Amino acid sequence: FYEMFFDDAVKATKILHITLTARGNSGGKKIPMCGVPYHAADNYIARLIRSGNKVAICEQMEAPSAGKKIVKREITKIITPGTFIADDFLDNAVNNYILSLNVSDKKFGLAYADISTGEFHVTELDSRESLFAELYKISSAECLIPESFSKDKIFNQFKDVNLGAITVNDDWMFDYELSLKEIKNHFLVQNLDGFGCTDLNLAVGAAGALIRYIKHTQKSPLNNIHSISSYKISQFMTLDDSSYRHLELLQNQDDLSSRGTLLEILDMTRTSMGKRRLKKWILNPLLNVNKIEERLKAVQFFYDNRRLLEETREFLSNVYDIERLSNKISMATANARDIVSLAGSLKTIEELKAKFEKHIPDILEKLVLKLDNFADIVEWVEKCLIETPPNTIKEGGLIRQGYNCELDEVKAVALNGKDWLIDLQKKEIEKTGISSLKVGFNRVFGYYIEVTNAKLNAVPGNYIRKQTLTNAERFITPELKEWESKIIGAEERAKNLEYEIFCELRNKIGSEIKRLKETATAIAEIDVLSCLAENAIISGYSRPVLNDGNKISIIQGRHPVLEKVLKHKEFVPNDISIDTDDNRIFIITGSNMAGKSTFIRQTALIVIMAQIGSFVPAQKAEIGIIDRIFTRVGASDRLYKGMSTFMVEMLETANILNNATDKSLIILDEVGRGTSTFDGVSIAWAVVEYIYRKLLGAKALFATHYHELTELSQIMRGVKNFHLAVQEWNDEIVFLYKIKEGSSDESFGIHVAKLAGMPQFVVKRAREILNNLQKDSFMGNIRLRFSEKESHLEKVSQLDFFETSKNDHPVLKKILDIDVNSLTPLDALKKIAELKTELKEETG
Ligand code: ADP
Ligand code: MG
Repeated sequence: FYEMFFDDAVKATKILHITLTARGNSGGKKIPMCGVPYHAADNYIARLIRSGNKVAICEQMEAPSAGKKIVKREITKIITPGTFIADDFLDNAVNNYILSLNVSDKKFGLAYADISTGEFHVTELDSRESLFAELYKISSAECLIPESFSKDKIFNQFKDVNLGAITVNDDWMFDYELSLKEIKNHFLVQNLDGFGCTDLNLAVGAAGALIRYIKHTQKSPLNNIHSISSYKISQFMTLDDSSYRHLELLQNQDDLSSRGTLLEILDMTRTSMGKRRLKKWILNPLLNVNKIEERLKAVQFFYDNRRLLEETREFLSNVYDIERLSNKISMATANARDIVSLAGSLKTIEELKAKFEKHIPDILEKLVLKLDNFADIVEWVEKCLIETPPNTIKEGGLIRQGYNCELDEVKAVALNGKDWLIDLQKKEIEKTGISSLKVGFNRVFGYYIEVTNAKLNAVPGNYIRKQTLTNAERFITPELKEWESKIIGAEERAKNLEYEIFCELRNKIGSEIKRLKETATAIAEIDVLSCLAENAIISGYSRPVLNDGNKISIIQGRHPVLEKVLKHKEFVPNDISIDTDDNRIFIITGSNMAGKSTFIRQTALIVIMAQIGSFVPAQKAEIGIIDRIFTRVGASDRLYKGMSTFMVEMLETANILNNATDKSLIILDEVGRGTSTFDGVSIAWAVVEYIYRKLLGAKALFATHYHELTELSQIMRGVKNFHLAVQEWNDEIVFLYKIKEGSSDESFGIHVAKLAGMPQFVVKRAREILNNLQKDSFMGNIRLRFSEKESHLEKVSQLDFFETSKNDHPVLKKILDIDVNSLTPLDALKKIAELKTELKEETG
């Protein structure tokens, strides 16, 4: 059992739903205590960690013995959300990152590691927007920050970002000089040139703090982390965190799962390593045409060689998570099963390599070269371990016979002893004539001879009574005890020896970690590349052409997710050709539900897919590299974060206008919706003007229901109107989902309202108001247009809307109530005046 005391115990019982007990006394009070069984500890630890706690593991450091009162204990590990890597806790498709964030003068240094894979990355960022985007991508399980920053006002804005558990550390931990020393010591290097982070002082500070923290909590030398990779975000397409959300790349907007996302559609990877890699690729589309082409060539190669593709996929299906397994081995947490699984996977690699003959694309050739030959490790493992070893490593039963002479001898002694016991039972039965006599074993008394009460009189004199049961007695003899110590001694020795041999093997494999990791990386990439080829075949994608030009031209493009989920209809493909000159800003109008949002999103998704190195859902696509995609899509309330829909909308739009470049693609879906019409249309207008005048070169797709914006095309070259066509048919409309040039005349919102089952009255009345509105110019008196004077009053009284029959009207009632006979002319005049005012008041 692991036990917890005092406040810890009280807290833990609530989280774990276990019983609170007490032990001993402190200051006259009982000490609260609770415990969890040793063998199930991981499960309980996982629950404590998930509820935001850290767990210090304290072990006995020596065997308890009679002479000593207090056994020596030590904290052997501190488990935190970012460092807990028990198998059941980790999601194999997701990296478990622990992040360290260093801040100075609006610049940020990041270092993050996944202890379960041994990755370690650093980078620096110089704006809050890029920091947020990067933090979103990393999605750390735990984040270390310097204490001074935790008190900074800026830190408050971080509540939006998913950082995992926050751990505040002393500022000195992030000190550059100290960190530099820490890193040099850890990696045994003279300087950091080899890691490419010589000038990244902030990141170095973060990295030093991170290494120090992990070593401190894990009490381990961290052998599995043997290199730092530094990167610049400028190598990748910039997508801000709201774009990840809006475009539903990894998580959908409903329940944040991967259902209906690009990741889900593309993920046909066969290994966990591949899954994690694909996710990284989606988060980081490339900007370098050559690098993208390299990937596309590999995808093409698999696409063209179906047989090889199939065989590769088949092979990958049988590969275990080499990355995490070898990592466990180097951290000395792997058991014999892990090692056997690893060896099994390594064994087949040669077969895979053999499949790739000459004439393969460069990138594949490089990857195949990285696949090492592991005959040595496989041989060590196969010679040493049995085929299906147990989960435990200290109870013996793992090592093959013939591997180690000493072990075999000791085991023989134990085995002989057992044979001797079987013989003994036979002999004693013969000698005593007690046929039910049994030789048995229990933990407290060791080996014994058991005789039932009925036969006690036949027990020979040399038996020594040891234990009395209800219907039997247990005896020992000096001879039996002698053999007992031989057997038990031998068994203990065998177990210890097996454990020693196992650890030796594990260490030996552990020191091969570099080779293993390289191979794991190569397998991950081969998995993703072949997965993209399989996708291309299954979903009918085509290879895009990428260049550094300014044009995006897509023929018959489709939305990769929607085309799969549409049940009762076919997806309608559409073309787009957008550039930085005459066709730069598209104002896209069309009825509600006509497919505007789908069209602009599919354009963004196709660009992203192409820059990942994937084939795309289109007949043909030519993509001039896009450096950033900005999106402002739909209404997303973050009220719980204290921001209204409109505020969020304006924040996101501001971010776009402040950061877009001439190579950016801007996706605006209904900007200005969260406020009044005039307000909204004015903002939308000004936004387009700004993009037109200031963000020269940026391409923009603007879906809007403000028809007024279509006038912009008349005054600005490069602004073009498009609409999604609908067809009117018998007073109904049919959506064609086809993009056409020009603006649409109507928004058909009322049709959609009708489709949605709005009450007849609302539909009819809305048509009427629309008619009235269309009679006047846009700048007319709005109130009059909503309710044209006379006709309005007349209609209103006829409508059952008021549910008042004529006689119920208060004025009519008053007239009916008047007694004309008793009314003086003067009173009559007064009455008329009074009724008139009443009616006037009512109609406003
Ligand atoms: P809008 O933004 O114009 O209101 P959406 O893009 O949200 O319209 O599309 C509404 C629905 O129309 C989608 O959910 C989908 O079912 C259908 N749809 C949109 N585009 C297409 C298309 N190209 N082919 C087939 N169905 C489509
Ligand atoms: Mg829409």
